[in-house]
Amino acid sequence: MAGTALYDTFARAPLAFERGEGVWLETREGERFLDFAAGIAVNSLGHSHPHLVKALQEQAAKLWHVSNLYEIPDQSRLGERLAANTFADKVFFTNSGAEALECAIKTARRYHYAKGAPERFRIVTFEGAFHGRTLATIAAGGQKKYLEGFGPKVEGFDQVPFGDWAALEAVVGPETAAILIEPVQGEGGVRPVEASFLQKLRKLCDDQGMLLIYDEVQCGIGRTGKLFAYEWSNAVPDIMAIAKGIGGGFPVGACLATAEAASGMVAGVHGTTFGGNPLAMAVGNAVLDVVLEEGFLDEVSRKALLMKQGLAEIADAFPDVVAEIRGTGLMLGIKCVVPNGELVGAMRDQKMLAVAAGDNVVRLLPPLNITDDEIREGLNRIRSSAEALSHKLKAA
Ligand SMILES: *Cc1c(COP(=O)(O)O)cnc(C)c1O
Repeated sequence: MAGTALYDTFARAPLAFERGEGVWLETREGERFLDFAAGIAVNSLGHSHPHLVKALQEQAAKLWHVSNLYEIPDQSRLGERLAANTFADKVFFTNSGAEALECAIKTARRYHYAKGAPERFRIVTFEGAFHGRTLATIAAGGQKKYLEGFGPKVEGFDQVPFGDWAALEAVVGPETAAILIEPVQGEGGVRPVEASFLQKLRKLCDDQGMLLIYDEVQCGIGRTGKLFAYEWSNAVPDIMAIAKGIGGGFPVGACLATAEAASGMVAGVHGTTFGGNPLAMAVGNAVLDVVLEEGFLDEVSRKALLMKQGLAEIADAFPDVVAEIRGTGLMLGIKCVVPNGELVGAMRDQKMLAVAAGDNVVRLLPPLNITDDEIREGLNRIRSSAEALSHKLKAA
């Protein structure tokens, strides 16, 4: 948009929302949109969830920030709860996904350094990956469009094609510190990694003394119907980056690790001013209160099935628009025949929000507490969008 003081780095839709409730967003003009973008998998419990609003308001009236010079009881509590519900023993809180990944990368390198093998600093990643926009995470992601023009690529990342075991074995060497993978690629086009592939990665890492790092920034916190997507595979990581859903809309990220993997991260080697502050921790704990409630995650799986079945019917009805439905849980992708931006646009015409992804996919990431009726409403709008595009194709 012309005349704005903001960086031109975002191609924003001409929409401004003023308020939200659950799966609905409302513009200043009072137009209501069904939100299946959820701030890119961030608004895990929708907008204005009463338990989250209360937690934030109560904390806001007490204390906002003290820095990590002092103890933050709610940070310890959230760390303990994350550890109790995962493979991890140790947690470092950040403000974003990229920072969580930075911590994961540093933790892996520092582990080998502390073991007397500083030459082991290389990390293997997979094509289509997205790990953030810092200098190290664009090197990890390896996408040309994000690296171009930003100077020398941070050294130490080796990328192999998605799911290519032979290429992976060929690139692993005496300098390899870790393998970094999203159990479900988000940005790359909603591509789940086979459980058997994660199990093979686990074994390879064990055999070679490498660390296995998961990026669950997008697929974690209940998105796939388990608290973390890796639980479907029983292949546990040594280190894991999370963010997005854990804050429910408040900026929170975290790097989780086993005590062994985190053993190089001693006092003074890493830090953050804002990470884990009382406001963020109040909201993070409130998100866990809801997601860990008995039955919540089973409901996510049940609703996901409903949604996937409905989407499959739409794919069958409009093969000129939809190529396939992919994904898992409430992290679903519509692989398009038409350019994915056209489907996102047609959905916006139906007052519904979704997110484009790589591989010509439209991502559907509704709040995890969406109701069956809201899913049906969403499916109706997606059907109307596909129908409109199909008519346009036939008329052309
Ligand atoms: C969004 C995302 C990131 C980066 O998170 P930011 O908060 O934008 O820095 C990293 N990894 C994955 C898988 C993501 O989806």
